[in-house]
Amino acid sequence: MSATNPPIRTRFAPSPTGFIHLGNIRAALYPWAFARHHGGTFILRIEDTDVGRSTQEAVQVILDGMAWMGLDHDEGPFYQMQRMPRYREALRQLQDAGHVYPCYMSTAELDALRERQMAAGLKPRYDGTWRPEPGKTLPPVPAGVPPVLRFRTPLAGAVAWDDRVKGPVEFSNAELDDLVIARPDGTPTYNFCVVVDDIDMRITHVIRGDDHVNNTPRQIHIFRALGHEPPVYAHLPTVLNEQGEKLSKRNGAKSVLQYRDEGYLPDAMVNYLARLGWSHGDAEIFSREQFVQWFDLDHLGRSAAQFDGEKLKWVNAHYLRALPPQQLAEAVRPFLRRLGLHEQGVDLTGAVALLRERAHTLVEMAELCGMFYVQPQPDAALLAQHLTAPAQAALSDLRTALAALPSWDAPAIGAAMKQVLAAHQLKMPQLAMPLRLLVTGRLQTPSVDAVLALFTRDTVVQRLAANT
Ligand code: GLU
Repeated sequence: MSATNPPIRTRFAPSPTGFIHLGNIRAALYPWAFARHHGGTFILRIEDTDVGRSTQEAVQVILDGMAWMGLDHDEGPFYQMQRMPRYREALRQLQDAGHVYPCYMSTAELDALRERQMAAGLKPRYDGTWRPEPGKTLPPVPAGVPPVLRFRTPLAGAVAWDDRVKGPVEFSNAELDDLVIARPDGTPTYNFCVVVDDIDMRITHVIRGDDHVNNTPRQIHIFRALGHEPPVYAHLPTVLNEQGEKLSKRNGAKSVLQYRDEGYLPDAMVNYLARLGWSHGDAEIFSREQFVQWFDLDHLGRSAAQFDGEKLKWVNAHYLRALPPQQLAEAVRPFLRRLGLHEQGVDLTGAVALLRERAHTLVEMAELCGMFYVQPQPDAALLAQHLTAPAQAALSDLRTALAALPSWDAPAIGAAMKQVLAAHQLKMPQLAMPLRLLVTGRLQTPSVDAVLALFTRDTVVQRLAANT
Protein backbone atom coordinates (compact mmCIF):
# COMPACT_ATOMS: atom_id res chain seq x y z
CA MET A 1 0.00 0.00 0.00
CA SER A 2 1.42 3.38 -0.88
CA ALA A 3 1.53 6.18 1.63
CA THR A 4 -1.09 8.13 -0.29
CA ASN A 5 -3.71 5.37 -0.17
CA PRO A 6 -5.95 5.50 2.86
CA PRO A 7 -6.17 2.29 4.90
CA ILE A 8 -8.70 -0.16 3.48
CA ARG A 9 -12.11 -0.02 5.15
CA THR A 10 -14.93 -2.29 4.01
CA ARG A 11 -18.36 -3.08 5.35
CA PHE A 12 -21.17 -5.60 5.38
CA ALA A 13 -24.49 -3.79 5.54
CA PRO A 14 -27.30 -6.33 5.86
CA SER A 15 -30.95 -5.49 6.40
CA PRO A 16 -32.17 -7.51 9.39
CA THR A 17 -35.31 -8.89 7.86
CA GLY A 18 -35.09 -12.41 9.09
CA PHE A 19 -32.98 -14.54 6.87
CA ILE A 20 -29.45 -14.72 5.56
CA HIS A 21 -28.63 -17.17 2.84
CA LEU A 22 -25.34 -18.09 1.22
CA GLY A 23 -25.57 -15.27 -1.31
CA ASN A 24 -26.02 -12.76 1.51
CA ILE A 25 -23.15 -14.06 3.61
CA ARG A 26 -20.86 -14.07 0.58
CA ALA A 27 -21.39 -10.30 0.53
CA ALA A 28 -19.82 -10.38 4.02
CA LEU A 29 -17.06 -12.86 3.23
CA TYR A 30 -15.48 -10.89 0.40
CA PRO A 31 -15.28 -7.50 2.11
CA TRP A 32 -14.04 -9.29 5.24
CA ALA A 33 -11.31 -11.05 3.26
CA PHE A 34 -10.38 -7.88 1.43
CA ALA A 35 -9.98 -5.97 4.69
CA ARG A 36 -7.99 -8.81 6.28
CA HIS A 37 -5.78 -9.13 3.20
CA HIS A 38 -4.82 -5.46 3.44
CA GLY A 39 -4.62 -5.26 7.21
CA GLY A 40 -7.64 -2.95 7.00
CA THR A 41 -10.88 -2.62 8.92
CA PHE A 42 -14.12 -4.54 8.44
CA ILE A 43 -17.28 -2.85 9.65
CA LEU A 44 -20.72 -4.29 10.38
CA ARG A 45 -23.64 -2.00 9.78
CA ILE A 46 -27.22 -3.03 10.36
CA GLU A 47 -29.56 -1.31 7.90
CA ASP A 48 -32.70 -1.38 9.98
CA THR A 49 -34.60 1.62 8.64
CA ASP A 50 -37.33 -0.63 7.25
CA VAL A 51 -38.90 -0.62 10.69
CA GLY A 52 -41.83 -2.80 9.67
CA ARG A 53 -39.61 -5.68 8.59
CA SER A 54 -36.53 -5.37 10.82
CA THR A 55 -36.35 -7.39 14.02
CA GLN A 56 -33.89 -7.94 16.83
CA GLU A 57 -34.08 -11.70 16.23
CA ALA A 58 -32.97 -11.13 12.65
CA VAL A 59 -30.03 -9.05 13.90
CA GLN A 60 -29.10 -11.96 16.14
CA VAL A 61 -29.26 -14.37 13.18
CA ILE A 62 -26.78 -12.13 11.34
CA LEU A 63 -24.46 -11.91 14.33
CA ASP A 64 -24.65 -15.67 14.93
CA GLY A 65 -24.11 -16.49 11.26
CA MET A 66 -21.06 -14.27 11.03
CA ALA A 67 -19.63 -15.53 14.32
CA TRP A 68 -20.12 -19.13 13.21
CA MET A 69 -18.32 -18.47 9.91
CA GLY A 70 -15.54 -16.66 11.77
CA LEU A 71 -16.17 -13.35 10.00
CA ASP A 72 -15.16 -11.05 12.81
CA HIS A 73 -15.82 -7.33 12.48
CA ASP A 74 -13.56 -4.60 13.83
CA GLU A 75 -16.16 -1.86 14.20
CA GLY A 76 -19.88 -1.93 14.85
CA PRO A 77 -22.47 -3.22 14.69
CA PHE A 78 -23.77 0.25 13.88
CA TYR A 79 -27.53 0.59 13.62
CA GLN A 80 -28.95 3.07 11.15
CA MET A 81 -31.96 3.75 13.38
CA GLN A 82 -29.55 5.09 15.99
CA ARG A 83 -28.03 7.53 13.52
CA MET A 84 -31.12 9.55 12.62
CA PRO A 85 -29.81 12.83 14.10
CA ARG A 86 -26.72 12.52 11.92
CA TYR A 87 -28.80 11.91 8.77
CA ARG A 88 -30.93 14.97 9.55
CA GLU A 89 -27.80 17.05 9.92
CA ALA A 90 -26.50 15.82 6.54
CA LEU A 91 -29.89 16.58 5.04
CA ARG A 92 -29.67 20.15 6.28
CA GLN A 93 -26.23 20.40 4.71
CA LEU A 94 -27.69 19.40 1.34
CA GLN A 95 -30.61 21.78 1.77
CA ASP A 96 -28.30 24.68 2.61
CA ALA A 97 -26.22 23.97 -0.48
CA GLY A 98 -29.34 23.89 -2.68
CA HIS A 99 -29.12 20.20 -3.61
CA VAL A 100 -32.63 19.34 -2.48
CA TYR A 101 -36.06 20.86 -2.88
CA PRO A 102 -39.50 20.24 -1.38
CA CYS A 103 -42.00 18.42 -3.57
CA TYR A 104 -45.72 18.54 -2.76
CA MET A 105 -46.94 16.16 -5.41
CA SER A 106 -49.51 13.86 -3.84
CA THR A 107 -49.55 10.10 -4.27
CA ALA A 108 -52.65 10.43 -6.45
CA GLU A 109 -50.90 12.94 -8.71
CA LEU A 110 -47.82 10.71 -8.91
CA ASP A 111 -50.00 7.75 -9.86
CA ALA A 112 -51.75 9.75 -12.55
CA LEU A 113 -48.39 10.93 -13.90
CA ARG A 114 -47.13 7.36 -14.02
CA GLU A 115 -50.22 6.21 -15.88
CA ARG A 116 -49.91 8.98 -18.46
CA GLN A 117 -46.25 8.12 -19.02
CA MET A 118 -46.91 4.42 -19.35
CA ALA A 119 -49.78 5.05 -21.74
CA ALA A 120 -47.39 7.09 -23.87
CA GLY A 121 -44.86 4.25 -23.79
CA LEU A 122 -42.46 6.19 -21.55
CA LYS A 123 -40.51 4.99 -18.53
CA PRO A 124 -42.31 6.27 -15.41
CA ARG A 125 -40.30 8.95 -13.67
CA TYR A 126 -40.86 12.09 -11.64
CA ASP A 127 -41.26 15.00 -14.05
CA GLY A 128 -39.66 17.79 -12.02
CA THR A 129 -42.90 19.69 -11.37
CA TRP A 130 -41.59 21.13 -8.10
CA ARG A 131 -37.98 21.49 -9.16
CA PRO A 132 -37.06 25.17 -8.95
CA GLU A 133 -35.31 26.59 -12.00
CA PRO A 134 -34.38 30.18 -12.84
CA GLY A 135 -37.40 31.86 -14.43
CA LYS A 136 -39.75 28.96 -13.65
CA THR A 137 -42.96 29.53 -11.67
CA LEU A 138 -43.72 26.72 -9.27
CA PRO A 139 -47.31 25.65 -8.55
CA PRO A 140 -48.92 27.18 -5.44
CA VAL A 141 -47.90 25.32 -2.29
CA PRO A 142 -50.92 23.31 -1.05
CA ALA A 143 -51.92 24.11 2.53
CA GLY A 144 -51.22 21.57 5.25
CA VAL A 145 -49.33 19.13 3.02
CA PRO A 146 -45.90 18.14 4.35
CA PRO A 147 -43.52 17.80 1.37
CA VAL A 148 -40.97 15.12 0.56
CA LEU A 149 -37.45 16.33 -0.16
CA ARG A 150 -36.09 15.48 -3.57
CA PHE A 151 -32.48 15.44 -4.67
CA ARG A 152 -31.62 17.68 -7.63
CA THR A 153 -30.03 15.29 -10.07
CA PRO A 154 -28.00 17.04 -12.77
CA LEU A 155 -30.08 17.19 -15.95
CA ALA A 156 -27.27 16.71 -18.42
CA GLY A 157 -24.17 14.56 -18.50
CA ALA A 158 -23.61 11.13 -17.08
CA VAL A 159 -22.36 9.45 -13.97
CA ALA A 160 -19.79 6.70 -14.31
CA TRP A 161 -17.60 4.47 -12.22
CA ASP A 162 -15.06 1.79 -12.85
CA ASP A 163 -16.64 -1.22 -11.20
CA ARG A 164 -14.05 -3.73 -10.04
CA VAL A 165 -16.27 -6.58 -11.20
CA LYS A 166 -18.33 -5.15 -14.04
CA GLY A 167 -15.76 -2.80 -15.53
CA PRO A 168 -16.79 0.72 -16.61
CA VAL A 169 -20.45 1.46 -15.88
CA GLU A 170 -22.19 4.63 -17.00
CA PHE A 171 -25.69 6.01 -16.46
CA SER A 172 -26.93 9.02 -18.31
CA ASN A 173 -28.32 11.57 -15.84
CA ALA A 174 -31.37 11.90 -18.04
CA GLU A 175 -32.30 8.36 -16.92
CA LEU A 176 -32.26 9.29 -13.25
CA ASP A 177 -35.16 11.28 -11.90
CA ASP A 178 -35.04 13.39 -8.75
CA LEU A 179 -34.86 10.89 -5.94
CA VAL A 180 -36.86 11.32 -2.73
CA ILE A 181 -34.31 11.51 0.06
CA ALA A 182 -36.61 12.47 2.93
CA ARG A 183 -40.19 11.38 3.54
CA PRO A 184 -42.96 13.80 4.57
CA ASP A 185 -42.21 13.07 8.25
CA GLY A 186 -38.58 14.04 7.66
CA THR A 187 -37.11 10.53 7.88
CA PRO A 188 -34.32 9.99 5.39
CA THR A 189 -34.60 7.30 2.72
CA TYR A 190 -32.39 4.32 2.10
CA ASN A 191 -29.97 5.62 -0.54
CA PHE A 192 -29.27 8.72 1.48
CA CYS A 193 -28.50 6.86 4.74
CA VAL A 194 -26.14 4.49 2.94
CA VAL A 195 -24.10 7.39 1.58
CA VAL A 196 -23.91 9.27 4.88
CA ASP A 197 -22.78 6.04 6.56
CA ASP A 198 -20.22 5.19 3.90
CA ILE A 199 -18.81 8.71 4.29
CA ASP A 200 -18.77 8.70 8.09
CA MET A 201 -17.37 5.18 8.28
CA ARG A 202 -14.69 6.19 5.74
CA ILE A 203 -15.47 3.17 3.56
CA THR A 204 -12.89 2.81 0.81
CA HIS A 205 -14.39 -0.22 -1.00
CA VAL A 206 -18.05 -1.12 -1.31
CA ILE A 207 -18.31 -4.81 -2.17
CA ARG A 208 -21.97 -5.78 -2.43
CA GLY A 209 -24.57 -7.59 -4.49
CA ASP A 210 -25.26 -6.34 -7.98
CA ASP A 211 -28.91 -5.77 -7.10
CA HIS A 212 -27.54 -2.41 -5.94
CA VAL A 213 -26.06 -1.35 -9.28
CA ASN A 214 -29.08 0.84 -10.02
CA ASN A 215 -28.65 2.63 -6.69
CA THR A 216 -25.02 3.39 -7.32
CA PRO A 217 -25.36 6.36 -9.73
CA ARG A 218 -27.79 7.99 -7.29
CA GLN A 219 -25.46 7.33 -4.39
CA ILE A 220 -22.50 8.77 -6.30
CA HIS A 221 -24.43 12.02 -6.87
CA ILE A 222 -25.23 12.23 -3.17
CA PHE A 223 -21.58 11.60 -2.27
CA ARG A 224 -20.48 14.49 -4.43
CA ALA A 225 -23.23 16.78 -3.20
CA LEU A 226 -21.97 16.11 0.33
CA GLY A 227 -18.45 17.03 -0.78
CA HIS A 228 -16.93 13.54 -1.00
CA GLU A 229 -15.66 11.29 -3.73
CA PRO A 230 -17.36 7.88 -3.84
CA PRO A 231 -15.51 4.71 -2.78
CA VAL A 232 -14.41 1.95 -5.13
CA TYR A 233 -17.36 -0.28 -6.06
CA ALA A 234 -17.33 -4.01 -6.71
CA HIS A 235 -20.78 -5.40 -7.49
CA LEU A 236 -20.98 -9.15 -7.09
CA PRO A 237 -23.06 -11.16 -9.53
CA THR A 238 -26.05 -13.02 -8.15
CA VAL A 239 -25.83 -16.48 -6.68
CA LEU A 240 -28.23 -18.89 -8.41
CA ASN A 241 -29.74 -22.00 -6.90
CA GLU A 242 -29.32 -25.43 -8.46
CA GLN A 243 -32.31 -24.76 -10.72
CA GLY A 244 -30.69 -21.58 -12.02
CA GLU A 245 -33.00 -19.16 -10.17
CA LYS A 246 -31.79 -16.30 -8.01
CA LEU A 247 -31.16 -17.63 -4.52
CA SER A 248 -33.92 -16.56 -2.17
CA LYS A 249 -35.92 -17.79 0.76
CA ARG A 250 -38.94 -18.14 -1.50
CA ASN A 251 -37.32 -20.70 -3.75
CA GLY A 252 -35.85 -22.83 -1.03
CA ALA A 253 -32.52 -21.19 -0.14
CA LYS A 254 -31.38 -22.26 3.31
CA SER A 255 -30.28 -19.96 6.05
CA VAL A 256 -26.57 -19.95 6.86
CA LEU A 257 -27.30 -21.31 10.34
CA GLN A 258 -29.13 -24.25 8.83
CA TYR A 259 -25.82 -25.38 7.34
CA ARG A 260 -24.34 -25.23 10.83
CA ASP A 261 -27.22 -27.38 12.08
CA GLU A 262 -26.78 -29.84 9.22
CA GLY A 263 -23.19 -30.42 10.27
CA TYR A 264 -21.12 -28.30 7.93
CA LEU A 265 -17.84 -26.92 9.24
CA PRO A 266 -17.29 -23.16 9.12
CA ASP A 267 -13.91 -23.54 7.41
CA ALA A 268 -15.53 -25.65 4.71
CA MET A 269 -18.25 -23.04 4.21
CA VAL A 270 -15.66 -20.28 3.90
CA ASN A 271 -13.69 -22.34 1.38
CA TYR A 272 -16.78 -23.23 -0.63
CA LEU A 273 -18.22 -19.71 -0.66
CA ALA A 274 -14.86 -18.17 -1.46
CA ARG A 275 -14.88 -20.14 -4.72
CA LEU A 276 -18.46 -19.20 -5.49
CA GLY A 277 -17.56 -16.12 -7.49
CA TRP A 278 -13.81 -15.82 -7.05
CA SER A 279 -10.87 -17.96 -8.06
CA HIS A 280 -7.18 -18.41 -7.51
CA GLY A 281 -5.95 -20.46 -10.45
CA ASP A 282 -7.31 -23.98 -10.10
CA ALA A 283 -7.23 -24.02 -6.31
CA GLU A 284 -10.38 -25.65 -4.91
CA ILE A 285 -9.28 -26.46 -1.38
CA PHE A 286 -7.44 -23.78 0.55
CA SER A 287 -7.26 -22.69 4.14
CA ARG A 288 -8.80 -19.53 5.53
CA GLU A 289 -5.29 -18.08 5.80
CA GLN A 290 -4.51 -18.84 2.16
CA PHE A 291 -7.82 -17.33 1.13
CA VAL A 292 -7.06 -14.11 2.97
CA GLN A 293 -3.57 -14.07 1.53
CA TRP A 294 -4.80 -14.60 -2.04
CA PHE A 295 -8.04 -12.63 -2.06
CA ASP A 296 -8.20 -9.73 -4.48
CA LEU A 297 -10.86 -7.95 -6.49
CA ASP A 298 -9.23 -8.78 -9.82
CA HIS A 299 -10.36 -12.40 -9.79
CA LEU A 300 -13.99 -11.92 -8.90
CA GLY A 301 -16.21 -13.69 -11.44
CA ARG A 302 -18.33 -11.59 -13.79
CA SER A 303 -21.09 -14.09 -14.34
CA ALA A 304 -23.61 -15.46 -11.89
CA ALA A 305 -22.34 -18.26 -9.68
CA GLN A 306 -24.43 -21.36 -9.22
CA PHE A 307 -24.80 -23.10 -5.90
CA ASP A 308 -23.85 -26.76 -6.00
CA GLY A 309 -24.84 -28.75 -2.92
CA GLU A 310 -22.80 -31.79 -3.97
CA LYS A 311 -19.65 -29.73 -4.23
CA LEU A 312 -20.30 -28.18 -0.84
CA LYS A 313 -20.60 -31.69 0.60
CA TRP A 314 -17.40 -32.71 -1.09
CA VAL A 315 -15.55 -29.73 0.37
CA ASN A 316 -17.05 -30.41 3.79
CA ALA A 317 -16.02 -34.07 3.66
CA HIS A 318 -12.51 -32.94 2.89
CA TYR A 319 -12.46 -30.71 5.97
CA LEU A 320 -13.94 -33.45 8.16
CA ARG A 321 -11.19 -35.83 7.16
CA ALA A 322 -8.51 -33.23 7.68
CA LEU A 323 -9.53 -32.41 11.26
CA PRO A 324 -7.45 -34.06 13.97
CA PRO A 325 -9.65 -36.83 15.48
CA GLN A 326 -9.76 -35.11 18.85
CA GLN A 327 -11.23 -31.96 17.30
CA LEU A 328 -13.55 -33.94 15.08
CA ALA A 329 -14.87 -35.77 18.14
CA GLU A 330 -15.56 -32.43 19.80
CA ALA A 331 -17.43 -31.21 16.73
CA VAL A 332 -19.47 -34.43 16.51
CA ARG A 333 -20.39 -34.52 20.22
CA PRO A 334 -23.34 -32.07 20.10
CA PHE A 335 -24.75 -33.92 17.08
CA LEU A 336 -24.54 -37.23 18.96
CA ARG A 337 -26.46 -35.67 21.82
CA ARG A 338 -29.05 -34.39 19.41
CA LEU A 339 -29.58 -37.98 18.23
CA GLY A 340 -30.09 -38.95 21.87
CA LEU A 341 -26.90 -41.01 21.94
CA HIS A 342 -24.73 -41.27 25.04
CA GLU A 343 -21.05 -41.50 24.61
CA GLN A 344 -20.16 -44.48 26.74
CA GLY A 345 -18.02 -47.59 26.46
CA VAL A 346 -16.33 -46.57 23.22
CA ASP A 347 -13.88 -43.71 22.89
CA LEU A 348 -15.41 -41.15 20.51
CA THR A 349 -12.03 -40.01 19.21
CA GLY A 350 -11.26 -43.58 18.14
CA ALA A 351 -14.71 -43.93 16.60
CA VAL A 352 -14.47 -40.79 14.48
CA ALA A 353 -10.92 -41.64 13.42
CA LEU A 354 -12.27 -44.92 12.07
CA LEU A 355 -15.37 -43.46 10.43
CA ARG A 356 -14.28 -40.09 9.13
CA GLU A 357 -13.68 -41.22 5.55
CA ARG A 358 -17.33 -42.19 5.33
CA ALA A 359 -19.19 -39.01 6.23
CA HIS A 360 -19.85 -35.74 4.44
CA THR A 361 -21.32 -33.88 7.39
CA LEU A 362 -21.22 -33.98 11.18
CA VAL A 363 -24.79 -35.25 11.12
CA GLU A 364 -23.77 -38.22 8.96
CA MET A 365 -20.75 -38.68 11.20
CA ALA A 366 -22.91 -38.80 14.34
CA GLU A 367 -25.30 -41.26 12.69
CA LEU A 368 -22.39 -43.52 11.81
CA CYS A 369 -21.03 -43.26 15.35
CA GLY A 370 -24.41 -44.55 16.46
CA MET A 371 -23.11 -48.07 15.81
CA PHE A 372 -20.96 -47.71 18.91
CA TYR A 373 -23.56 -46.23 21.23
CA VAL A 374 -26.74 -48.21 20.80
CA GLN A 375 -27.73 -51.66 21.89
CA PRO A 376 -27.69 -53.54 18.56
CA GLN A 377 -31.05 -54.74 17.34
CA PRO A 378 -30.24 -56.59 14.16
CA ASP A 379 -33.01 -56.95 11.66
CA ALA A 380 -34.49 -60.47 11.93
CA ALA A 381 -34.45 -61.11 8.18
CA LEU A 382 -30.80 -60.08 7.94
CA LEU A 383 -29.92 -62.30 10.86
CA ALA A 384 -31.66 -65.24 9.26
CA GLN A 385 -29.72 -64.57 6.07
CA HIS A 386 -26.28 -64.18 7.60
CA LEU A 387 -26.33 -66.16 10.82
CA THR A 388 -26.21 -69.54 9.11
CA ALA A 389 -25.43 -72.71 11.06
CA PRO A 390 -21.78 -72.82 9.88
CA ALA A 391 -21.40 -69.12 10.73
CA GLN A 392 -22.86 -69.70 14.15
CA ALA A 393 -20.39 -72.47 14.88
CA ALA A 394 -17.50 -70.29 13.72
CA LEU A 395 -18.70 -67.34 15.78
CA SER A 396 -18.89 -69.53 18.84
CA ASP A 397 -15.23 -70.50 18.37
CA LEU A 398 -14.30 -66.92 17.68
CA ARG A 399 -15.93 -65.85 20.93
CA THR A 400 -13.78 -68.34 22.84
CA ALA A 401 -10.66 -67.18 21.00
CA LEU A 402 -11.41 -63.51 21.63
CA ALA A 403 -12.00 -64.12 25.33
CA ALA A 404 -8.54 -65.64 25.55
CA LEU A 405 -6.59 -63.10 23.46
CA PRO A 406 -3.50 -61.85 25.26
CA SER A 407 -4.06 -58.31 23.94
CA TRP A 408 -7.24 -56.53 22.78
CA ASP A 409 -6.39 -54.76 19.55
CA ALA A 410 -7.22 -54.94 15.85
CA PRO A 411 -4.23 -57.06 14.73
CA ALA A 412 -4.85 -59.65 17.46
CA ILE A 413 -8.58 -59.76 16.66
CA GLY A 414 -7.83 -60.05 12.94
CA ALA A 415 -5.44 -62.96 13.55
CA ALA A 416 -8.06 -64.77 15.65
CA MET A 417 -10.62 -64.31 12.88
CA LYS A 418 -8.25 -65.78 10.28
CA GLN A 419 -7.61 -68.86 12.40
CA VAL A 420 -11.33 -69.45 12.85
CA LEU A 421 -11.96 -68.97 9.14
CA ALA A 422 -9.30 -71.51 8.27
CA ALA A 423 -10.57 -74.03 10.82
CA HIS A 424 -14.17 -73.71 9.54
CA GLN A 425 -13.26 -73.30 5.88
CA LEU A 426 -15.29 -70.15 5.51
CA LYS A 427 -14.69 -67.01 3.47
CA MET A 428 -14.24 -63.69 5.27
CA PRO A 429 -17.73 -62.25 4.55
CA GLN A 430 -19.36 -65.41 5.91
CA LEU A 431 -17.89 -64.60 9.29
CA ALA A 432 -17.56 -60.81 9.11
CA MET A 433 -21.18 -60.08 8.14
CA PRO A 434 -22.90 -61.88 11.01
CA LEU A 435 -20.17 -60.62 13.32
CA ARG A 436 -20.95 -57.03 12.32
CA LEU A 437 -24.66 -57.62 12.73
CA LEU A 438 -24.36 -59.11 16.20
CA VAL A 439 -21.95 -56.54 17.58
CA THR A 440 -23.12 -53.33 15.88
CA GLY A 441 -26.54 -54.14 14.45
CA ARG A 442 -25.31 -52.96 11.02
CA LEU A 443 -23.88 -54.62 7.94
CA GLN A 444 -21.87 -51.62 6.82
CA THR A 445 -18.94 -50.80 9.05
CA PRO A 446 -15.26 -50.16 8.53
CA SER A 447 -12.90 -53.11 8.85
CA VAL A 448 -14.51 -55.35 11.46
CA ASP A 449 -11.36 -56.06 13.48
CA ALA A 450 -10.83 -52.30 13.94
CA VAL A 451 -14.48 -51.85 14.90
CA LEU A 452 -14.36 -54.65 17.45
CA ALA A 453 -11.16 -53.27 18.96
CA LEU A 454 -12.97 -50.05 19.90
CA PHE A 455 -15.55 -51.90 22.00
CA THR A 456 -14.49 -53.42 25.27
CA ARG A 457 -13.73 -57.10 25.05
CA ASP A 458 -16.57 -57.82 27.49
CA THR A 459 -19.11 -56.09 25.28
CA VAL A 460 -18.07 -58.07 22.21
CA VAL A 461 -17.97 -61.38 24.01
CA GLN A 462 -21.38 -60.75 25.61
CA ARG A 463 -22.99 -59.77 22.32
CA LEU A 464 -21.66 -62.92 20.68
CA ALA A 465 -22.67 -65.09 23.64
CA ALA A 466 -26.25 -63.92 23.34
CA ASN A 467 -26.54 -65.42 19.86
CA THR A 468 -24.02 -68.22 19.51
N1 GLU B 1 -28.82 -3.29 3.14
C1 GLU B 1 -28.54 -3.68 1.80
C2 GLU B 1 -28.95 -5.11 1.59
O1 GLU B 1 -29.13 -5.84 2.54
C3 GLU B 1 -27.07 -3.56 1.44
C4 GLU B 1 -26.68 -2.18 1.09
C5 GLU B 1 -25.27 -1.99 0.65
O2 GLU B 1 -24.44 -2.93 0.77
O3 GLU B 1 -24.96 -0.90 0.20
O4 GLU B 1 -29.13 -5.50 0.47
